[in-house]
Amino acid sequence: MERLDAAVAAATECPVCGSSHTKLYLDGAPPALDNAAFGSSRTELSFGRILRCRDCGFGFAETRPAEDQLKRLYRQMDVAVYESEVQGRTRTARRHRKILQRYVSKPGRILDVGCASGRFLSECASAGWTVTGLEPSRILCQEAQRLLGGGAPIFPITLQEADFPESSFNAVTMWDVLEHVPCPREFLRQALCLLKPGGLLFVNVPNLDSLQARCMRRRWPLFLPEHLNYFTRESLARCCTQSGVRLIALGSRPVSFSIGYIVHRAGQHVPLLRPLGRIAARLSIADAVVPVWMGELYAVWNKTNASGRSQDALVVEGI
Ligand SMILES: [Zn+2]
Repeated sequence: MERLDAAVAAATECPVCGSSHTKLYLDGAPPALDNAAFGSSRTELSFGRILRCRDCGFGFAETRPAEDQLKRLYRQMDVAVYESEVQGRTRTARRHRKILQRYVSKPGRILDVGCASGRFLSECASAGWTVTGLEPSRILCQEAQRLLGGGAPIFPITLQEADFPESSFNAVTMWDVLEHVPCPREFLRQALCLLKPGGLLFVNVPNLDSLQARCMRRRWPLFLPEHLNYFTRESLARCCTQSGVRLIALGSRPVSFSIGYIVHRAGQHVPLLRPLGRIAARLSIADAVVPVWMGELYAVWNKTNASGRSQDALVVEGI
């Protein structure tokens, strides 16, 4: 097991807008930053100190590991619990494909950054897309290659390590990825370079202004050791303000999990709920898969053509 005590940086300025006007939002125990804290199999939940920017509302972990440290942790992450939720993750992948198709009229080339075991890309391939995936977890990458067939271009690397030519893709997606990266603005800039003119970028992230986050505070299940960033509508919009790119949609969608998994996760954050696991098992409902709204936010950006003619109005769905 790897533990990373050295070389973590303490953020003092907002990683989105650069403001130094920040305040302590939540004071948690120092994060473990080891294999016990990363991924759905985690047993450690300490999320550390969460700061909040007074100017843009962005929330961020004060302790920020370097990219190469994170890469090593994600490469060897325990994915047993993640992979046990196949049915729910397949339903969520189908939901993501429907969001994609709402904004893209015909299939083209798509890159999924952090594609996990490839279920979203599998949905896209079935709908006629030419798919490419990046997944730093070795085991998940192998599973995605198996799911999509041996020849599918699924690479065990991060976006920073990829060397695709500019303007390679009609769509780039990152479902539940941006909260994990030390420099979200730079990460989005790199993703946008890979889009063809007229292409679309889809991002889903935790929403710090959601009802769930505001009501549950430190018990919100998305406060996790591996999450470095917590967004709001304003701070997510500010992540991507370069010319030639327009925010065209904001929305929220549920994820699907088994009741057994939901109770397990809820019991980790609210110990009083742990007996519900035994009740669910006794009632034989632990395997039933249901939608759950975690308090997330998705955004769609359009890379306009050179003349900047795109005048799409902002679509707001379900938030
Ligand atoms: Zn800020």
